[in-house]
Amino acid sequence: MQNRPHASDAAVPMPVGTAPLASNLTLSSVFRIRDLDHVDALYAGIEPGFIYARDGHPNADRLGRQLADLEGASAGVVLASGMAALAAILLDRLGPGDRVVASRDLYGKTITLLTERLGRFGIQVELVDTQDLAAVEAAVRAKAKLLLVESLSNPLVRAAPLEQLATLAHAAGALFVVDATFSPPPALRALSLGADLVVHSLTKILSGHGDVTLGAVLGAAELVEPLRATASVYGQHAAAFDCWLTERGLATLDLRVERSFANALTLARFLRQHPRVRMVHYPGLEEHPDHDWVRRHMTGFGFMLAFELGGRSEVNTLFQRLRDVPFCPSLGDVHTTVSHPATTSHRALAEERRHSLGIRDGTVRVSVGIEAPQQIVDDFAQALEGLPVA
Ligand SMILES: *Cc1c(COP(=O)(O)O)cnc(C)c1O
Repeated sequence: MQNRPHASDAAVPMPVGTAPLASNLTLSSVFRIRDLDHVDALYAGIEPGFIYARDGHPNADRLGRQLADLEGASAGVVLASGMAALAAILLDRLGPGDRVVASRDLYGKTITLLTERLGRFGIQVELVDTQDLAAVEAAVRAKAKLLLVESLSNPLVRAAPLEQLATLAHAAGALFVVDATFSPPPALRALSLGADLVVHSLTKILSGHGDVTLGAVLGAAELVEPLRATASVYGQHAAAFDCWLTERGLATLDLRVERSFANALTLARFLRQHPRVRMVHYPGLEEHPDHDWVRRHMTGFGFMLAFELGGRSEVNTLFQRLRDVPFCPSLGDVHTTVSHPATTSHRALAEERRHSLGIRDGTVRVSVGIEAPQQIVDDFAQALEGLPVA
């Protein structure tokens, strides 16, 4: 047992004179404390310092501050996933007898969380069409505690009218929470349009390289700070390595946003004129119902689009023929990917409900990446070539 490492070996300071350029990755799950007076000072918040990684660690802390800066928030907390971020807010803010109003076209797992999990805590949920402001007003007025929407919807990329929704929520005394995963900063700043809390699945474009699972909540410190304790109790803390990878992804966020948004517009325009494509859903196209809203409130029109083919067999053939663009049921990667909402994200819904949300068997969703634009267009062009004319 001669070579057993000693705890003190791990705490070797950097040789003086230089410092690493890249961010440190601190994988330690626990931190060394000097003595009992020190631990008292740490718990009292008199001295700053980490104690146990589930309660907070340097990589999550730094990433939370960077994301808060990007969103123009005073505080940010990073959690295990986008779902963990949403669940933490609901667990922190709601109790028996409370009501939540939410958009009916939220991300599928969020709908499952709301409709299949909250009931056991005595929390009621009402799903509404957030384009219908009268319906939203009626729903929040019935003593809603929280209004939850997505900035841009999946997969038809409808924009929620955030300022009006904020006004309705606040008039009813409800907290207004916006999942802004489809509209990364700096393209949209939902807090400046009235959101109380902004949620991101960092798994998507903010980390950007398809190798991370994390989420974040940004907003005022008095709303965000309590989520740390909630996350610790429910075990929703963020893995340090994923935080480190996300911080690395953020370094190129502006470039990736600019390029993927430009590529999405190029692809949307190409698809719109293609004889095999029935319709394209992208707010950058003048005919999209939210073109004006997005033009006025965002810089650029986003990296997500959808389009309509004849039906399932056309989609199947398209996916088989695409060479560079893989079928992957996620989004926000540097690579362009396609997905099929009817068999993936919205699989759990009855066909009738899918149709009421505008999702057909021929609906294809595209998450546009940062490749050379011609490479993306060429792949869709050759793949669409073999499909029957619509
Ligand atoms: C992916 C996604 C989530 C969930 O995020 P995870 O990191 O996968 O848990 C929530 N909302 C939206 C809009 C998403 O796209």
